[in-house]
Amino acid sequence: MTHHPAENTPDQPIWRCAVPTPLRRYFDYRAPAGWQGTAVPGLRVRVPFGNRQVTGILLSTASESTVSNAKLKFVAEVLDTGPLFTEPLLALLTWASGYYHHPVGEVLPLGLSPSERRGLAERATGVAALTLTKRGRGLPEGAPHRAPKQAALVSLLQTGAMPLSAIAQSGFSRSVIKALIDHQLAEETEMSQTNQWNIRSAPLPPNTEQHSAIEKVTADAGTFAVHLLFGVTGSGKTEVYLQTIAACIERGEQALVLLPEIALTPQTLARFEARFDAPVLALHSGMGDAERDRVWATARHGSAAIILGTRSAVFAPLQQPGIIIVDEEHDAAFVQQDGFRYSARDVAIKRGQLEHCPVLLGTATPSLESWHNAETGRYHCHRLTQRAGRGSLPSQRQIDISGLDLSAGLSAELIEKVDATLSAGRQVLVFLNRRGFATALVCHDCGWTSDCPDCDARMTLHKTPAGLHCHHCDRRSSLPQSCPHCDSRRLVGTGVGTQQTEAFLSERFSAFPVMRVDSDTMQGRESMPNLIERLSDGEPVLMIGTQMLSKGHHFPHVALVAVVDADTLLFSPDFRGEERLLQLLTQVSGRAGREEVPGEVLIQTRHPDHPLMQQLAGPYDKALPELLAQRQRGGLPPYGALGVIRCDSQSRQEGLDFLQQLKRGAASTENCQLIGPLPAAMARRKNRYRSQLVLAASGRSALAARMASLVNAAESTRHSHRLSWSVDIDPYESL
Ligand code: ADP
Ligand code: ZN
Ligand code: ZN
Repeated sequence: MTHHPAENTPDQPIWRCAVPTPLRRYFDYRAPAGWQGTAVPGLRVRVPFGNRQVTGILLSTASESTVSNAKLKFVAEVLDTGPLFTEPLLALLTWASGYYHHPVGEVLPLGLSPSERRGLAERATGVAALTLTKRGRGLPEGAPHRAPKQAALVSLLQTGAMPLSAIAQSGFSRSVIKALIDHQLAEETEMSQTNQWNIRSAPLPPNTEQHSAIEKVTADAGTFAVHLLFGVTGSGKTEVYLQTIAACIERGEQALVLLPEIALTPQTLARFEARFDAPVLALHSGMGDAERDRVWATARHGSAAIILGTRSAVFAPLQQPGIIIVDEEHDAAFVQQDGFRYSARDVAIKRGQLEHCPVLLGTATPSLESWHNAETGRYHCHRLTQRAGRGSLPSQRQIDISGLDLSAGLSAELIEKVDATLSAGRQVLVFLNRRGFATALVCHDCGWTSDCPDCDARMTLHKTPAGLHCHHCDRRSSLPQSCPHCDSRRLVGTGVGTQQTEAFLSERFSAFPVMRVDSDTMQGRESMPNLIERLSDGEPVLMIGTQMLSKGHHFPHVALVAVVDADTLLFSPDFRGEERLLQLLTQVSGRAGREEVPGEVLIQTRHPDHPLMQQLAGPYDKALPELLAQRQRGGLPPYGALGVIRCDSQSRQEGLDFLQQLKRGAASTENCQLIGPLPAAMARRKNRYRSQLVLAASGRSALAARMASLVNAAESTRHSHRLSWSVDIDPYESL
């Protein structure tokens, strides 16, 4: 379909295109000479840009351009016969580019798969699947007996065909699949491309609260509404998702489910696979390009019933979305904190509006924003107040550690309790949100500290492997044998990290397995499933880990959760500090007592009288009115709207000067204050200086207008190429 520009075709219409560049504008081209088709928005085009050709996206046509006739270039090639974007998805991406003030040419490609972004054709959409042969279907239960993995797969397939990718994600290796095929028990087929999807296993009978939530969400099919499912940990939110999805796929519509973490996908995927005889596909950053290409095409053509994905899956193409679910809606992982900064939860809500389908936000710890929207009637709120199944909510107690002698951060009372729990044959989870052995290395004689040469931060002491490691810029160096400043040998670690607690606990409780769960030990995709597998027999185990353990995981046998240090977020200068602490502790506590073993939570603090510590014992929502009142007094979200222009520069002054110049051109007004410029909380990172200008507005429209004019000014302000700036709307952190 290559078109060569004819000599004289000035009356060819003008195509306004998005082009992958950081410039916040559209680019005009002339339609390809001799173009006969319809210029449908969303078509990919190959266009000249500078001295190369790039893949752009047609957005609209125009009869005139600000570019002179002589300079207007021709579209070199139209790459698609029909657009790869549905109308609502194109509208969503365009909206996101405007709302977040991010270049449209960088946002639109998020609706495409990796190879589509490079201008290649869409992948074929057939879903390779495995289905039992007649012989396989006739096998007695538990057969083939000598091969339990094969038997498990046969039993899984008894309810219908399953995509190969889903089988792999459920933990079956290629050799198990091959064995079934070799023995003519199963064969490779294509998953049906119709939307005739079925339920594989019967739903659990919902309790009254679950039933009401399922009914109300399902009743909103085909219309936009936001439902907040506020259910205590272990209250059966997932069961509500499954049953609303069931209603959705029975109508032949697709479900999009967003999860905060890759680590959660295998567990959730397995639960979904077990329930539905329909293609359930995962979409996350751990996948290769080819796999993403395939999932993308499958979702776009409607042959994937359910898409389970992390943040960026909110832009996955869907032919016929029936529901969008955001699990753990409060989680910071939904907020992309660099490059194109957006909140996948907020984008999901906008998407529901554009796609005319309900959005279901689930959490045990609603964000203040969502809670406020529920209180003011913008969202419907459904509560699940009881643990479903056999679990009950854990009891909670605080230990005042001020003045106490601690061993690796642990009080004698806590150690005793761990002992008693393990001896009773139960599992224990010790929570400490700092990895490494010690937060810094300090010289006992001269006070030297292990500062990172490139950051305003200390390097963390690690013992396995030994060395100093900066958690902010990833710099590593060997462990000094003596003080680099005074040569003293008396170097000591300060601030307890997970490795230290692990070392102490392994020695103290040598009769029991002690496992550390942090990003140093949980590198591979299989780590979390392996851990869950190891814990599944309920044998006594001691786990020590970071916030990785607080996320949605179902550890059925944990009886004691011990929080080593609750105070780190208590006096955080960030406006979300207290909210995050409350959410974190509620979520960690929620890992205890999930099944018949009753749960107990111990929290060590030096500030037992702090109002927030007092609130921890009560239900989560009891603490919210006071937190909201604080936000209202400060004009902070959800009452006011925040935006930040962040600057990253080689010297501190350069960044501050740039922002100051922007500020001078735009005085504060009553409905939008400009605060700063100020250095960021950690001003220097990786030897770059970070500064920011905060916009605190009375509402969204005031913020949008003021930000637009600042962005305009920034675009036309000359600055050093060593300086870069970006926009953060609704920032998760304002420091
Ligand atoms: P949440 O997502 O709220 O943390 P889950 O969906 O993981 O909770 O449910 C916790 C446990 O309760 C699971 O083992 C689940 O199978 C069980 N469960 C959920 N709903 C029901 C129900 N209606 N009847 C019996 N058990 C249930
Ligand atoms: Zn020294
Ligand atoms: Zn560093």
